[in-house]
Order: sequence, then C-alpha cells, then structure tokens
Amino acid sequence: MKVLYVEDNEQDADLTCRRLARLAPDIAIATVHTLADARARLAAEEAAGAPPDVLLVDVRLPDGNGLELLGEVRLRGLPIAVVMLTGSGDEALVVAALRSGADDYVVKSGAYIERLPATLAGVVQTFRQASAHRSTPIRVLYAEPSAADVDLLQRHLARYAPHVQVEPVFTAQEALVRLPPEADPGPDVLLLDFKLPGMNALDVVREVRHERGLNLPIIVITGHGDETSAAQTLKLGATDYLVKQEDLLNRLPVAIENAWYRAQLERERGALRESEERFRQMAESIGDVFWLSDPQRRVTLYMSPAFERIWCLPVSDVYANWRAWLDDVHDDDRDMLRARMDDLSLAELEFEFRVCPPGHEMRYVHMRVYVVRDGAGRHVRRAGVIQDITERKAQEARIEHLAYHDSLTGLPNRAMLMDRLGRALSQAQRLDQQLAVLFIDLDRFKLVNDSLGHHVGDQLLQEIARRLRATLRDNDTVARVGGDEFQVVVCNVAGATDAARIAEKLMRALGEPFTLAGQELHVTASLGVSLFPRDGASGELLLKYADTALYEAKGEGRNAYRFFSPEMNAQAHGRLRLENDLRRAVERHELELHYQPQLDLATGEVCAVEALVRWRHPVRGLVLPNTFIPIAEETGLVLGIGEWVLNEACRQVAQWQRDGLADNVSALRVAVNISARQLQRPGLDGAVRRALSLSGLAPPCLELEITESSVMLDPLHAQGVLQSLRDLGVLLSIDDFGTGYSSLAYLKRLPLDRLKIDRSFIGGIPSDSDDAAIVETIIVMTHKLGLRVIAEGVETLEQRLQLVRQGCDEMQGFLLAHPVPADELPALLKTLKEAAATARLTPPTP
Ligand code: C2E
Ligand code: MG
Ligand code: MG
Repeated sequence: MKVLYVEDNEQDADLTCRRLARLAPDIAIATVHTLADARARLAAEEAAGAPPDVLLVDVRLPDGNGLELLGEVRLRGLPIAVVMLTGSGDEALVVAALRSGADDYVVKSGAYIERLPATLAGVVQTFRQASAHRSTPIRVLYAEPSAADVDLLQRHLARYAPHVQVEPVFTAQEALVRLPPEADPGPDVLLLDFKLPGMNALDVVREVRHERGLNLPIIVITGHGDETSAAQTLKLGATDYLVKQEDLLNRLPVAIENAWYRAQLERERGALRESEERFRQMAESIGDVFWLSDPQRRVTLYMSPAFERIWCLPVSDVYANWRAWLDDVHDDDRDMLRARMDDLSLAELEFEFRVCPPGHEMRYVHMRVYVVRDGAGRHVRRAGVIQDITERKAQEARIEHLAYHDSLTGLPNRAMLMDRLGRALSQAQRLDQQLAVLFIDLDRFKLVNDSLGHHVGDQLLQEIARRLRATLRDNDTVARVGGDEFQVVVCNVAGATDAARIAEKLMRALGEPFTLAGQELHVTASLGVSLFPRDGASGELLLKYADTALYEAKGEGRNAYRFFSPEMNAQAHGRLRLENDLRRAVERHELELHYQPQLDLATGEVCAVEALVRWRHPVRGLVLPNTFIPIAEETGLVLGIGEWVLNEACRQVAQWQRDGLADNVSALRVAVNISARQLQRPGLDGAVRRALSLSGLAPPCLELEITESSVMLDPLHAQGVLQSLRDLGVLLSIDDFGTGYSSLAYLKRLPLDRLKIDRSFIGGIPSDSDDAAIVETIIVMTHKLGLRVIAEGVETLEQRLQLVRQGCDEMQGFLLAHPVPADELPALLKTLKEAAATARLTPPTP
C-alpha cells in the first residue's frame, strides 16, 4: 500500500512514520509538509503512472486547508482514497471533509497511530470496491448557458459522484452536434437548461426524440415558476425535470444516476426481449422438441412448439397438465415411461417410444432427459430433447427387410427362413403338432432364363412366389434361398397325407401356364418333403432331408414330389460314395460301352449303333448312366468319361469295320452322346479330331448326339461349337428332341443332320393322341428343315408301324434290340440282318 502523508508538524510526521514502519512494514509511506509539495508530488507520481493508494492529509496546513487537496483529487476523479487527519475539537471540519468526499478521518489523539494501519487498509478496500462499483462512468452532456452553474455542478459532482463526467456546452446547437447521428456514440445522459439561447428545451427534446428517434435519458432543469413548460417536455419524451432550488446540486447526481439506470434497465430489457426472440425463433425452427420441467412442483416450464407437430396437441395442454403428453403415448410404452420418469433418482434417461395422436399417423420418438441441479446439488429441474425418428425407423425397417428378404420376390431369405423355422418348430413342440418342410425346385428353369432372358426369368420367379404365397396360409412360410429354389414351412399339418395334399396343391398351382412377355410358359416343379417330428427335430436337418427328397424327385423324372425316408438318406450317403468311386472309374477301367442298333425304316437295315456307357462297379455291379452321368456332370468328371467314351467308341467301330462286321454298302456308323459340360468346354473339336485320327475312323462314321436342352443352355456358343464339329466332317444330331424349348427358327441355323424324337413321345403312341400328333409334327417339320428323323424308345410293333406311316426315317428301341456289350454286337447284327431278310420276304400287314 502506497501512502502520501501530508503533515506540517515534522515531529508528528517522524513519529508516525517510525511507528508505522514497525506496525505495518508493507505500507510504503512518503511524507510532504505543505499543500504545494503534496500537489507537486501527486502530479509527479501520477505522471509516472504510480499514484498513491491513499492520501493521509492533515486538515490544517501552512499554505491552506487539506480539504482543498481533497476537492482537487475528487474533481479530477482520481482513484485515490483520502483520509483526513484532524486535531481534537475539529468536528465541524470532519463533517465538511466527509461531505466533500473524504473516505475516512482520524483524530490525532491517544493511540491513534496504532489504529492507523487498520484504518488505511479498510479505507483502501472500501474505496476499491466502490470504484469498481462505479467503474462505468456516466457521460453527461450539459447544455447550460451559465458558465458559473456549470462550474458549480462540476465541482459538486467531483466530490460526490466522480463517476459522473460532465461535458458542458452553452447552446442547444452545440448540444445537438454532440448527439447521434452526428456523434457516435453520444452521451449517456442529456442535461438541458430549459432556457437555451435561440432554442428552448422543448425544441431540443422534440428534435432528439422525434426527429432523431434517440432514447437517451433527457433531464430538464427549469427555473422557479416554469414548471408547466417543463412538464410539457415530459410529454414530448423528456425523462425527468428538476427545478432550480437550493438542493438542486444534491438532487442532480441522484436524478442523473436514476435516469441512467432506467435507460440501462430498458436497454437490458430490450436485449432480453431480443434474446428471447432469438430463442423463440430457434425453438420454432428446430424440428426437435425440447422442454424444461420442475418435477417437484410437477409443472412444465417450457415446451418448444415442435411438440405440436408430433403430438398434434397445443403446447398449452402441457402447461396446464405437465403429463398431458403421456396420454397419447402408445399403450405398450406408457407405463414403462411413466415409471422411469417418476424415478427422480435416475440421472440421465433415454427412451424410444411411440406416440399415437388420435386420428393421426403413429410417430416413433427418441427422448433424452437430463437432470438440472442447483448449486447445492439438488435435482431441481429436468430438461428433455425429443426427436421424431419415424423416418429413421422406416429406413431401418427397410434395411432390415433387405437383410431378411429376397430382393427379387420379397420372400424371406435364408436368414429369415431359419428364424421362422426355429419359431415354428418350438411352437410345434409346445403344442404337440406336426410340421412339414418342402423344398421346391423348378424343372429346367435355367432354360427359361437362358432362352428368354433374365428379365423373363425374374418375372417368372416373382409370379411363382405370388402363386406359392397365394396357395398357402398366412402363417406358413415361403422363402427363396437362391436361384429357382423355394422353401416352404407348413405349420400344424395332420400328417404325411396332409403334407402330400399340400405338395400336390403347390404343384398344381405352378402347373398352370404363365403368360410372360406375351408368351405362354409351362413350368413344372419337383418337390421334396420332410416332416417334424418324424424325420428330425432341427431346422437344419429338416431342410437337408427335404433337399435330399427333392433330389430323389428330380432323379425320378421331375414334376414329382417325394417324401424323405431314411433309405433316401442312405442313398444320399451312397451317392457321395459313388462320387468318390466314380473319380477312379476311368483309371480302373471300370467303364464299358454297350451298343444299341439303329434301323433304317426304309431299307430295314441297321445303319448305326449308339454307344451307351456303363459302369461296372466292383460292388454294385452294372451301373446305368442315369445314375452316374448326372453326378459326373455335376462334378465335371463327365469330361474325362466323355473323352474315354469318344475314343473307345471310335476305336471299337473302326475295329469292327476292319473286321468286316458291316459287310453292307454303307460302313457302320456310331452315335456318341455328348454331355452339356463337354459342349460348353472349349476343345471338344480337338478331342473329336484326336479320336478320329487315333482310331482311323472316317468322320462321317461318327455321329455326335447333343441333347436339345444342352444346346439351349447357351445357343450362341452351341452354334459355334457345332459348326466347328461339322467342319470336321462328323454328323450331328439333336437328342431327346421335344423336351426343350428350342424354336424352329433357331434349329434352322444349326448345322444338323438328324433329330432324335424323345422316347417319352414315342411311349404315348398309340394311346395318347397328343403324343402321336406331336411326333407327326416333328417328323414333318424335320423334313422341311431337310434333316432326317429318328425315333428312340420304340418298344412295340404298333409304334413302329405308326412311325413308318408318319414317314419317320429311322428307329431305335427295345423292339429291335436292347443295348448289348461290344462282344455281343456282331452276333446281334447278324441276327438282325437275317430278320430283315425274312421280313422282306413277308412284309408286315399294314
Ligand atoms: P439317350 O442318349 O437318350 O440314350 C437312349 C437311352 O434310352 C438309353 O439308356 C437306352 O438304353 C434307352 N433305350 C433304348 N431303347 C429303349 C426303349 O425301347 N425303351 C426305353 N424305355 N429305353 C430305351 P441308357 O443307356 O440308360 O442311357 C441313358 C442316357 O444316359 C442316355 O440317353 C444319354 O443321355 C446318357 N448317356 C448314355 N451314355 C452316355 C455317354 O457315353 N455319355 C453321355 N454324356 N451320356 C450318356
Ligand atoms: Mg443318345
Ligand atoms: Mg435320347
């Protein structure tokens, strides 16, 4: 603390300094003995930027009164506390000093020096507090023609209200140029003498308020008797008026301060209104709801307007009843919500719930609730934010749907199927019911896809999904796990017969023709069925068994359904073993070829033999191609097998030719079956060329049989392959014709020699008039294309006669001969030749 001590009595001064140095060493005290020295020292310290904190001034000094120094310090608004020192008996001076703004006084008597440190410290502290309080100066523009009045006021203010700073002007014009917009910022308060030269206060007030629209406080000072005119200034917008009386000077600082405070308050209110307005705008434009409540008083303190959009209730309802919003919460969510909201021990809450405003769409909302505590940590308020998450929920549901459904048909996918199956099984277990799992596979769907395009294939799958759904009950499940496979779970079936009825119903539904892309499509399906609890208890197992049964159904000629049986499982295992055995069949020389003759119906001579592969399995005995060719196809083993067949057939027939087996005009021809896999794999022409050159067989003695369906898998590719084969000089025929979907226009483009009518049509002759008509159509059509036609599977004489009548060129079948091992063929051909010769002698009666 820095003290400037003004004391003319040098002895007193010395004593005081010594005592203080001991009592309060932190006080730095400088002593001067006259007013003039005090002024000089003060000025110097001020200039150095280090003024004292306190002036300790003796009242009586040789060159004047200590009060003068006090007045000067206060007039200049210096931040220095002033303590007056008086002798005892100078009480009148004490009063004057305090009135003039002294902060305290000390009477020089008794142990006053001991009390001095405390007095000084206290004074500095209160002075600092007060000046902090009055740190904002109030700038007053004072229009007053009398310089004396101005001086008087300034002196007074310096003493009693140093924070009020007055700028004097003498005329109204001078005042006006110091106000906005000319001067900015203008003063805080305008003080006007009523009578101003040239312009009175009324005009000034009018100008300030009405022309310039300023709202700074205006205080008018009027002379005695002018109160009426002064009152008029109030009407025009003046803030206050004061009459020039004795106590004017005392009342003025108060009036100025009040006016300033009121203006300040007004400004603050304006700012508050503005901030409220900003808040309101924000609250109204934000989509989320936010609220504030007092859980102790059970009132809503604030609810933002977005509430009305979700609840379709006016916010006033929640002001009237703080829990009104709970009424429209979904019945299933309300109790949980209420219970947790009522539990005030929970600090932060988060909920998702549904709001169901009567007559409006249900909304999903997410609410987060925060606890607001007071300084003592008491839970006084709750704040909440509510977000409308209906859109997000819908989005999530869409994503979930995608995750659990097949996007093409909208049916459940594998994940969903397993889930549904699991539930259905536990329900069946609980209620002691039976359940059926059906595996459905479309026959030859790939063909539709490849020949008519994926677009039509997709439409077909969608249509099939619809039919399956329509055929079943709502709580049954239809799923699509991929490709053309559908899975069905039927709950509560009465038993195998009931399940069979359902399978038939499904097959019938799919059997109805589909009209897609202007075409009528006929689709058949194969079904496998497994039953709970008969076949198994787990979903995985039931599906696997249904799949096994399906495989069986397909193997037995498609368009059929099969129930799973334990034998089937054994067969499935057997199939696996077969597959392993098949891998080694070629190298172990277990394959052999049987030959079946083909007859020229015009000459009655054998024109060719078809090579048919057989597998002589070490344990199972002779295995027919229908059992192992599909496995070989699936595993790709058919490529090796096919190559062996090709080579072996060429070798054998070339050998027979050399042996003179076919001693007739045309050399014996051999027909070899080519699988779809062989056709697809590049290099078939190379393999054929090799077989021919290895065996020395003439190309026209080799005929390749390609099934209609394998050509139709990739017609464009097939066309190229067939052409390259044809370029080798071999003959080409379409096998199993009539079972695929090939069009005439397409066949015309292929380099073919022969069509082989599928034996299923021949089997229908003569009982099935449809089959007979189809056969006749194929014969006529084939001839139109310039091709020869052969009928396979001819078993009866009736069939042969009918085919002859319809103009068929060749035939093959049990009627003539079964396929025989190579070593039996020479004898067979001999017998057939003799039979033909006999027949020529006794032609059959038509
Ligand atoms: P596919 O090419 O249509 O061969 C004719 C099938 O019909 C042969 O059966 C034959 O024994 C049988 N068959 C002949 N005449 C009659 C008849 O009058 N009535 C009846 N019901 N059936 C008759 P197989 O030998 O069991 O061969 C079945 C199928 O296996 C063949 O049908 C062919 O697609 C395939 N296959 C046979 N050998 C081979 C081969 O070496 N390679 C390939 N890729 N497939 C072969
Ligand atoms: Mg064949
Ligand atoms: Mg055939």
